[in-house]
Amino acid sequence: MNDKEFIVNKIKIRACNFYQNMLWQPPGKKARAYLIRRGVNFDTAKSLSIGYAPGEQSLRQHLEAMGLDISLALDSGLLRFDKNMNISDFFNDYIIFPIFQGSDIRTFTGRKVTTDPEERMKHLHLKRAQKQLYNYNIIEKSNVVMLVESPFNAISLIQWDYPAVATLGANSFNKAHAKLFSKKVIYIIYDNDENKSGQRAALKTAKILFSEEKINPYIVTMPVGVDINDYYLSHEKKDFMLEILSTKRRLTDIPEFKRWMIEETRKAFRPKYKVTKNTEDIALVQTIPIADIVRLFQISMTKYGDDYKAICPLPMHREKISSFTVYTQTNTIKCFGCGFFGDGIDFVMQMKNIGFIEAIKFLKGKFFLTHGKEKTNGYAGTEV
Ligand SMILES: [Zn+2]
Repeated sequence: MNDKEFIVNKIKIRACNFYQNMLWQPPGKKARAYLIRRGVNFDTAKSLSIGYAPGEQSLRQHLEAMGLDISLALDSGLLRFDKNMNISDFFNDYIIFPIFQGSDIRTFTGRKVTTDPEERMKHLHLKRAQKQLYNYNIIEKSNVVMLVESPFNAISLIQWDYPAVATLGANSFNKAHAKLFSKKVIYIIYDNDENKSGQRAALKTAKILFSEEKINPYIVTMPVGVDINDYYLSHEKKDFMLEILSTKRRLTDIPEFKRWMIEETRKAFRPKYKVTKNTEDIALVQTIPIADIVRLFQISMTKYGDDYKAICPLPMHREKISSFTVYTQTNTIKCFGCGFFGDGIDFVMQMKNIGFIEAIKFLKGKFFLTHGKEKTNGYAGTEV
């Protein structure tokens, strides 16, 4: 860390302390009342270092009084030039949520203290805040994480002792975030608004987790028009468990996601078929229903809607639960234990430890019987 970064960091710490002080002083009265309305306990507010920014030039004066370099405070974004070209505070009349990484303060996000529904700047993020997750320090400490939108939703769950992390704004979840969740059990709990924006954001987040980290999250939908914070205010934790969490579905059981996966699978496999010379053979073995290929290896499967589940038979994977899923519509297999994903050819390659061309020959031999020199055209459905 260079000198400048060191001072910017110091400014953030000073600002955080200032905001926290303000919350519990007379200027924070309105903000405290607002926190009560949103069901935030004062103990929680203290443990999460929540504060209040009165605004105008109050932070500026505080930093100046501490002898800190105001130009570097401009760098941090906490101070800015107002329309009269005076240096003043970025946050004016906002509840302040600091975002920590370890014990360092990364950035801040704010919620305007207002009940006016016309207010346009309800949520205000300091620069780069949208690239952060609120309360993400908890991820390291927990194997289960609940992913929600907005700090207030997260805080409601935290007060019910759930490990909750919030995205700041719809569609802010990215690949770098996904890495943090590797090998965790994830619940994505989204608001069910009329315009479906919560649903779209949840699905987008889920797709990133699925494609980057092979995570098959649980998806939980809130009742229409009731966000987690609303629900918290009028219910008990046991209601949340019985009414809300119990409706969880695996991402891979959601029709909209299945359709997306079919498209992705097609895209992923198209180039592979183009580069080989045996396109006719590949097309031929592709017509074999994948469940028949799995049955070839005496693997017992359980029907699961259109699909099948089984104990993963792959040599590299030993398991007791059925993570191995056979998708009949896409003719693909996905194992949520070892991460295997592929079509019948990929599956045979793994099972028999053979190459691509060999696997095609094997499948041709098993399913397309040759009678003398004549070949049948198409899948013969042979018993093995
Ligand atoms: Zn497996």
